[in-house]
Amino acid sequence: MSQSFKNFINGKWVESKSGQTFENRNPANWNELIGLFPKSSKEDVDDAVKAARKAFEKWRLVPAPARGDVMRKLGDLLVKRKEEIARAMTREMGKVLAETRGDVQEGIDTAYYAAGEGRRLFGKTVPSELPNKFAMAIRVPIGVAGIITPWNFPMAIPTWKMFPAILSGNTVIFKPAQDTPNTARMLVETMAESGLPDGVVNIVFGTGGEVGRAIVTHPDVDLISFTGSTLVGKQISKDASDTLKRVSLELGGKNAQIVMDDADLDLALEGVLWGAFGTTGQRCTATSRLILHDKVYDKFLSMLVDRTKKLRLGDGLLATTDVGPVVNEAQRKNVQQYVEIGKSEGATLVAGGNIVSANGTLGGWFHEPTIFADVTPEMRVAKEEIFGPVLSVLRATSLEDAVTKLNNTVYGLSSSVYTRDVNKAFEAIRDIQAGITYINAATIGAEAHLPFGGVKQTGNGHREGGWTVYDFFTEWKAVYVDYSGKLQRAQIDNY
Ligand code: NAP
Ligand code: MG
Repeated sequence: MSQSFKNFINGKWVESKSGQTFENRNPANWNELIGLFPKSSKEDVDDAVKAARKAFEKWRLVPAPARGDVMRKLGDLLVKRKEEIARAMTREMGKVLAETRGDVQEGIDTAYYAAGEGRRLFGKTVPSELPNKFAMAIRVPIGVAGIITPWNFPMAIPTWKMFPAILSGNTVIFKPAQDTPNTARMLVETMAESGLPDGVVNIVFGTGGEVGRAIVTHPDVDLISFTGSTLVGKQISKDASDTLKRVSLELGGKNAQIVMDDADLDLALEGVLWGAFGTTGQRCTATSRLILHDKVYDKFLSMLVDRTKKLRLGDGLLATTDVGPVVNEAQRKNVQQYVEIGKSEGATLVAGGNIVSANGTLGGWFHEPTIFADVTPEMRVAKEEIFGPVLSVLRATSLEDAVTKLNNTVYGLSSSVYTRDVNKAFEAIRDIQAGITYINAATIGAEAHLPFGGVKQTGNGHREGGWTVYDFFTEWKAVYVDYSGKLQRAQIDNY
């Protein structure tokens, strides 16, 4: 008998109304069933929204420093469970243990940041135009937040959204990806233990089409914070427009690393290996393109191919593994399709390209780390997000040429430039169209207390992380206090 899990609504673990379930399996060994999760429907979403709405009326009145105190306890509890959650995460989505530990750590850092923010949540006081009148702007909570997340950072991304939402006085309904329900369950369990009142956090498992859509279109959900594909993000944007919800979208990327002729090549090599093949290339910030200066192209490419061929595929729980499996069959098919597309477009396959069974185990969704050389800007492998262990290498003749090529995409999340020339570095910072630019570091590795998000079709202008996410989860209220004892007209009516 496999273990069955439940939704969490109004402080209780409850069955879905439909009684239907879906399976959660290990991508490194597909025969291993982790558990059954509720395949919920609109009715379950209704219950969760009702609970969240009711809880909001009390939670919004709890002083922010007291809400911060719950976040601190939550951080402490996550520290205690870090290893347990990291192992469960590797088992359900495949990335290596060192990275799932990092994913949990991001949640811990986000909890402690939120704890501190409880004593800040700064407003502003400004002078009034008129005598004996006081003017200020304060942040107020908004209501019920719908949180919809992908599977590649099953801990970091939900915490980036839920912790600031809750610290700000909102309540949440959370729909995690079907590929990673178990990490989400452990997170919500820990949140409940930290002392959050019933109804402040609710989780409803199920499909995006049913549960996700029901949240997005629900008239009593005020906010949607979504991370996932650009395709689904566009659909959510349309679906949310009828109720004019506030929507934050963090979407796809086609991130590039530039290596200039004056770069420290060994350093740039470590950067691209980590950026392209960490999390099996399944990070929104993954290095998907490498733009090499002409003068170092051949040398750097041969160094890279050499190291890539030595990467060891396997179960992420094993210390000997460098690269884990792709998350599921559909994702691996997608990777295979792009390998075929790259070949047919005339790119040169210089490493990988095949699906494999790791260590003789046929049961997992493994794909070799793959490199295409001689990629040109108009090829699909240079433009489209692949979301797997595939790197496209392009050639550039100058920094200007490299930046033009880097910008030649509808996306704009992360970017990186390796150079020892400080002038070139600052030119790149000025001209690159991306939400994140690294100098002499890989495209991955965002820190919890800085703004995170992208330009162009990577998003719709909001930022997660740091202080910036609090702008999304609060509404500004302007407050005027007139203590003159008479009707004073504002300057527009009086000048
Ligand atoms: P996805 O297919 O877009 O799914 C994301 C979430 O949306 C899942 O929970 C999914 O549910 C749900 N969903 C699907 N259709 C929906 C609908 N019509 N209405 C509401 N919700 C719906 O993305 P993914 O495959 O999980 O993740 C990979 C993508 O995420 C990549 O494109 C990657 O670049 C992007 N990503 C972006 C960032 C960033 O910060 N910019 C970070 C990480 C990942 P089910 O899958 O359970 O059906
Ligand atoms: Mg799974």
